Amino acid sequence: MKVKPTVVWLEDVRIEDVPSVGGKGASLGEMINAEIPVPRGFAVTAQAFRRFLDETGIAKQLFEALEVNVDDANELSAAAEEAKKLLLATKMPQHMRNDIVTAYKELSKREGGEPFVAVRSSATAEDMPEASFAGQQETYLNMKGANNVVVAVQKCWASLYGARAIFYRIKQGFEHESVNISAVVQKMVNADKSGVMFTSNPTTGAPEAIIEGSWGLGEAIVSGSVSPDTYLIDRKTRQIKASVATKKIMVVKDQKTGDTITKDVPADMQNKRVLSDSELITILDLGELIEEHYESPQDIEWAMEKGEVFIVQSRPVTTIKKGGAEQETVSAGEAEKLLEGLGASPGQASGQVKIIKSADELDRVLNGDILVTAMTSPDMVPAMQRAAAIVTDEGGLTSHAAIVSRELGVPAVVGTKEATKKLTDGMLVTVDGEKGIIFAGRLERTEAAPAAGAVAVSAAKPVTATEVKVNVSIAEATVRAVATGADGVGLLRVEHMIIGMGKHPHWYIEHNEKDAFINELQKGIRIVVDAFYPRPVWVRTLDAPTDEFREMEGGEGEPIEPNPMLGWRGIRRDLRDVEVFQMQLQTFKNLIDDGYSNIGIMLPLVQHQDEVRQAKQIIAETGIDFENVDIGIMIEIPASALIIEDLIAEGIDFVSFGTNDLTQYTLAVDRNNENVAALYNEQHPAVLKLMDYVIQCCNKAGVVTSICGQAGSNPKMADKLVRMGISSISSNIDAVERVREAVARTEMRIILEGSRGLTNRD
Ligand code: PEP
Ligand code: MG
Repeated sequence: MKVKPTVVWLEDVRIEDVPSVGGKGASLGEMINAEIPVPRGFAVTAQAFRRFLDETGIAKQLFEALEVNVDDANELSAAAEEAKKLLLATKMPQHMRNDIVTAYKELSKREGGEPFVAVRSSATAEDMPEASFAGQQETYLNMKGANNVVVAVQKCWASLYGARAIFYRIKQGFEHESVNISAVVQKMVNADKSGVMFTSNPTTGAPEAIIEGSWGLGEAIVSGSVSPDTYLIDRKTRQIKASVATKKIMVVKDQKTGDTITKDVPADMQNKRVLSDSELITILDLGELIEEHYESPQDIEWAMEKGEVFIVQSRPVTTIKKGGAEQETVSAGEAEKLLEGLGASPGQASGQVKIIKSADELDRVLNGDILVTAMTSPDMVPAMQRAAAIVTDEGGLTSHAAIVSRELGVPAVVGTKEATKKLTDGMLVTVDGEKGIIFAGRLERTEAAPAAGAVAVSAAKPVTATEVKVNVSIAEATVRAVATGADGVGLLRVEHMIIGMGKHPHWYIEHNEKDAFINELQKGIRIVVDAFYPRPVWVRTLDAPTDEFREMEGGEGEPIEPNPMLGWRGIRRDLRDVEVFQMQLQTFKNLIDDGYSNIGIMLPLVQHQDEVRQAKQIIAETGIDFENVDIGIMIEIPASALIIEDLIAEGIDFVSFGTNDLTQYTLAVDRNNENVAALYNEQHPAVLKLMDYVIQCCNKAGVVTSICGQAGSNPKMADKLVRMGISSISSNIDAVERVREAVARTEMRIILEGSRGLTNRD
């Protein structure tokens, strides 16, 4: 057999060289040959690494050191330490060193001076070249000088023996001896912007590209430590929808030391759009070329230096977006069930448990981990986005964890009571967010279990007379929400955005920072109303209970209430705390003045017509013209259903059923209390009767009706509501398609029954 050299140039590498250079190296070679702009460089082969172990005679000592019980955290970290030390302390044979030095010198010659390079690990399994160990080994950026490159290569090799990597291999059944590592040495793109691109929608497969971009090097996005801008591009029409995020940090090269550092994004760039339309199209064009080359949708990392785009990595889009590599699995039959709770967000994902006790530990949650915590809070959203799945001790189906997980498309199980006690850090588990079960190990995915994050949209979307809309609570969910093809947003909850700011609205008032509050809120709402324009977005004014406000900076003065659910929340609060109400209204007014004619204002927890009258007066005083905006109310209290005619008389354009509250107040069942969860029934005849009454009265008066509680995501409820004559249904992102189909079917049945002279199917 021909001996593989220590070094191969990327342009000489092809896809069949995966065993020598790993998937990453091979794909770079393929792209260079397809004339895609890829930074040049070479790879130190996996065979060279093997020869290093053999020629220096350390292989035996190394593999013996790894024979430990990986479930014992101390043993595992001691083994990792010993292995790494051995690899770093062993001198590389001179001929290998020479080959690397010569290659770096050659690269310097080609580049006209010693270049900064990135040294990236690319691990590969001997007998399973397609196995991927992405994210488990290290990358060294901005290396310069032949000696430093040699050291970085050896460090990459050592990173094959990090505790996490050892743990994964054992749990996946890989022999340590069979896993090798290649190091790709590539000229560094000194990126001023970078990001990732899915050439086709990774969740729906639709021909629309998703590009994420932020300032500086791509490491900030890939590690999940910055919220990037998101751009959705229709590949047929080239139409672009931009969601501009607040980008707080960037990874850059320190101009003086050459080190790679993380720093704050300058204030004037934080909210600035990263990519212009023409830059987006340039990146998209390259993405399409790569997709054509590989004949499959790609997940690409790009970097841009002074207007020039480079592709630094490409791999096929896998249906499982998160949760790390596809590795060995156990079948459902042999799986050990560890815990049960409420299935709060569908999908199945496997990963390593990270138990989070407080917000300052959130950095420990890496891409693909399982976030386990007592209960999530708005400051956890970035970590929730990185997680492959979420498990909580507390909460019901309408808790923060449940709502946000569904919007992010992250599988979640809530209300397990004891996840933080029963699960341990580092454990490999599989979360089934549909059935509400946590299994030990990595479970095979069954047909029935959808991929995490999947947004189902059938190719031929049925047209329904009853509109099917979507609920949104966090701006980060906008791209997924738009991808459902929903007819608008039936509920945009502002409290998640407001509580996510971290400071109490009164803090802003007391510090004369009202404008800062308005600007921040406006940014979040604008992302949603812009993405959906001209489809309507009903923005609901603040509705958070006092116990949630108390957690915020400046929230110490919140009253302690015996029962916050029945307390000072919703419109009753805003009418007494008028300044906070006015700040929200000013935000809406600014957006309306900017031309967003698709905004509707929805008042929560209305109990009496006086509240509607007073609220409308304050809205008018803010300068909002009722000609330009629809005003509506939530029906969440039995009282408001029973006096619906008096409420209509105040002049409202729409009502929306908040069945989460309507059910709890009708049945006297706390929606967040696991102990009475079995009694919580949104289809209880009393709840249905209230809704039916409201729909009949509204239809008579020409007032639009809708539902935005969790029950609106249930196809059976949809069937009942369509028969009652509801105008629209607003569902969770993951349920839009299901509900749309149910609505279409019911509408057709009604027509059929009419033509057959039947009036009642039952
Ligand atoms: C509801 O009560 O059904 C509703 C949608 O409002 P929230 O869940 O925010 O109370
Ligand atoms: Mg409610």
